[in-house]
Parts: sequence; structure tokens; C-alpha cells
Amino acid sequence: GTEIPEDHPRYASLLTRHRIEAGVEKGITSKQGLIAQGRGEAFDYLLGERTLPSADAAARAAAATLLAADHPVFSVNGNVAALVPEETVELARVVDADLEVNLFNRTEERMEAIADHLREHGAAEVKGLTGDGEIPGLKHARGTVDADGIGAADVVVVPLEDGDRAEALAAANKTEVVIDLNPGSRSPRTAAVPIIDNVLRAVPNVTAHARDLADAPPAELRAVVDDFDPDAALEAAERAIREGSFAADGT
Ligand code: ATP
Ligand code: MG
Repeated sequence: GTEIPEDHPRYASLLTRHRIEAGVEKGITSKQGLIAQGRGEAFDYLLGERTLPSADAAARAAAATLLAADHPVFSVNGNVAALVPEETVELARVVDADLEVNLFNRTEERMEAIADHLREHGAAEVKGLTGDGEIPGLKHARGTVDADGIGAADVVVVPLEDGDRAEALAAANKTEVVIDLNPGSRSPRTAAVPIIDNVLRAVPNVTAHARDLADAPPAELRAVVDDFDPDAALEAAERAIREGSFAADGT
């Protein structure tokens, strides 16, 4: 593949583009996913391509939420599979969550390709292909889930999720952890825990916090969750964008 020198000032963004491109070539990422990537990249630039302290606090609250959950499920789409396959499998393992492929534009081919891709990166079981469940309030295939996966989940991690689906999941009483770079998007605004950060940084960061909290008693997990304020996290990200920190190197 294309080698990107690690000291390039835009290393992370070039790596992201390259992975998404490869994802499209492999049939796991949609053309719509390319557009979503462009939008995300713009927000990441405005945020300074770094994890804000507020996003780190959100990642810790997400880890505590997942560890305290009865049945957490990590929803995987074409961008997530292309960008962070190993990291996603690892987080699911550490917090004992199910992995479920869930696509905005559902096709059998892409569902299978993503499930295969996750298995190649170490996933034992991948849900989503059964599609025998339904999130109420969404048109046809948009609401299709596995009954014993997202259908039965109390907590769902939904990175880069569409606003309608995020709202429908919340209405179905799911506690949502949303990873999204746009603090103004409906999906993070719907989430109990909005992580305004790049999935590339956010997923391994949640895993690190989960490892740190692995032996914490339930009361400590509850305190981490209760201390987190989703509105304050969204506001902090908006402020960072408005105050324009941009990338540290000025590029
Ligand atoms: P809605 O109003 O329904 O939320 P939207 O305009 O946000 O719609 P999309 O463009 O499909 O719809 O959403 C893609 C979202 O994913 C954007 O908010 C974008 O910031 C985010 N995104 C894209 N790439 C990444 C990434 N690598 N990490 C985190 N978020 C990302
Ligand atoms: Mg959105």
C-alpha cells in the first residue's frame, strides 16, 4: 500500500483518507461514507486534531457506562470497520460487548464484507446478519437489527450514526454512546455520552479507560457516569472550534 511518512504534518488525516479509500475498494465502505469522512475531517481540523479534555472525560464515562451495562453492543458501520477494525474488536473484548454490523444503506454484500473484515481482525462473533429485530419508528431497512443484539441491548455504542437512528434508539430506551466529530450533529446531541473526537483516537481511548476501571466497584462506575455532563461536553467542543485552536503545526 501507500506509505505515509509518520512525521508528515497531516499524518493522521492522510492515514484516515487512505484507510477509507481502501475500505471503498474492499467493498466495506460506501460512497456516502466517503462524504461522511470529508465532513468529519473538516471538524477534526477545527478541533485541532486532538482529544479535548472534555472528550477524554466522555471516553471515561463511556467506559464506565459500558462496564456497568448488562448487554452492551458496539454498532459497526463501513467507516468504523475501515478505520478502526482491530481497535473496535479490542474494545468489545475488554468491556464484553457484542459487535453488530449496522448499516444506513444495508446491502447483504456489504454486511458480509464488514463481518468478514472484523473476523479477519480477531472478532469471534459478529451480529447483524440475522436482521430479525426492529427499532420502532424507522423506515424499513433503516430499523433492522438483530433481536438478540442491538434489539436486546441496554447500552449501544454508535459511532458516526445518522441523527434519525440515534433518536429512534434513544426512544427505544437504549443508552447511547455516540462518537462523532461534529458537536452540532443530532446524534451526539441525543447521546447520554457524546464523545466529540475522531474514532481513530476515541475507540482506543475508551479501551484504555475501560482497562483502568476494570476492577472498579459498581459505586465508582456510577460516580464516573453521574459526574459526566453531556451538555457541558458538547459546549466545550463548540467553544474549542469557535476559539480556533486548529492543528498545532499551523498547516
Ligand atoms: P444527521 O443530522 O442525521 O446527524 P449528518 O449531517 O451528521 O446527519 P453524515 O454526514 O452522514 O450526516 O454524518 C457523518 C458524521 O460522522 C458527521 O457528523 C461527521 O462529523 C462524523 N464523522 C466522520 N468521520 C468521523 C471520524 N473519523 N470520527 C468521528 N466522527 C466522524
Ligand atoms: Mg450526524
